[in-house]
Amino acid sequence: MNAKQTTRNVLVLLIALVLAFLAGQDFRDMQQPDKIYAENPALTRVAKLSEYNPNLKGTAGDTDIYVFDSGVPGGVALVYGGTHANETAAVMNAITYVENVSVTQGKLFVMPQANLSAFSATLPLRAQMGHMTFTLADGSVRTVRMGTRLANPVHQWPDPNYRLNSSGRVLEHGEIAEIRNLNRNHPGMEDGYLVEMVCYGIRKLVETENVDVLYDGHEASPEFRAVNFLIAHQRAMDLGSAAILNANLDAMMEGDMDGYPFKLDLSGATSWGLSHRALGDNTQAMATLFESLNPVMGFCHEKVTEALVKDGISPNYVHITDLGLLGSGELTDAGSPIELRAGYHMEMSRHLIGALGELNPEKTLTISGLPTFNDLVANGFEGILKPVK
Ligand SMILES: [Zn+2]
Repeated sequence: MNAKQTTRNVLVLLIALVLAFLAGQDFRDMQQPDKIYAENPALTRVAKLSEYNPNLKGTAGDTDIYVFDSGVPGGVALVYGGTHANETAAVMNAITYVENVSVTQGKLFVMPQANLSAFSATLPLRAQMGHMTFTLADGSVRTVRMGTRLANPVHQWPDPNYRLNSSGRVLEHGEIAEIRNLNRNHPGMEDGYLVEMVCYGIRKLVETENVDVLYDGHEASPEFRAVNFLIAHQRAMDLGSAAILNANLDAMMEGDMDGYPFKLDLSGATSWGLSHRALGDNTQAMATLFESLNPVMGFCHEKVTEALVKDGISPNYVHITDLGLLGSGELTDAGSPIELRAGYHMEMSRHLIGALGELNPEKTLTISGLPTFNDLVANGFEGILKPVK
């Protein structure tokens, strides 16, 4: 090899290293925790999930839990998002609670990033953005990570060939990666795979804190049957019915005679490992789950840019809607913006909390301070989120 060739080879290697460094920046950024405003005067403390399962201490599954304790006996609720870290409206709903809610009777737990590990990576081969940003009135920028549906293999690997999990669900063949899916492994194991231990931590939180109602926020694809469905364990059906009726009554009082597109469904008897089934069966809590419509969750969306995630505008899905191929997940040119999706989560969870005291007066949980649905849609998160240092 002559000197000229050597120089050229070294140059090619150097260029490859620079490209790898630049490409790796995105992956490294996703390891940085999100900054969530924690100066709400109503906030009692920030707990860790490892308080409920010590095996999570020091792991990527040890997520934060924001505790709002009024000190007055009453009902207890757990509102969470981030079971699936790419279902961003549910995460934004929980963050909005953390920053704004006030509790005058009962106790509220909020967990914005239930599967924390899943926030550190995006879905492979989808060219998905890793973050979304909101520019606030003071010019500061809030950044929130958009992760993926499963825990990061860096934190839980390898996936086993076969797993009979704690709910009786068999994970094998094409479903084996679901061992990293928080919503397939409830009620979990004290000492098992990372995600199983996170599930166990949530179960213990629900048991130890006497949680009466839990709300697990999700987003669904346009193809999914249960868009805008509240899925409730059989012990939570009365609560769910009351919440949907009250939400619609509120909308009508404000002049919106169409109300909300909420529907109620009973948790499937064989929904093994899902929160509404497994936490409803194995704890005292009334377990519920809600799905808002996000085209990013589907198979026919365009490239996952920040605009697609925030505005939910997808010409592909408008076309599919026009062809009459969609049921409940129809999309128009107006899209499915994150403020609307998060607003649905907020109304649904707020009314579940309200219905708790209505059906069981000794379990009253009184909350205030949350933006209304109209506030969220009109002002956007730009007008709702607080600046963080
Ligand atoms: Zn989900």
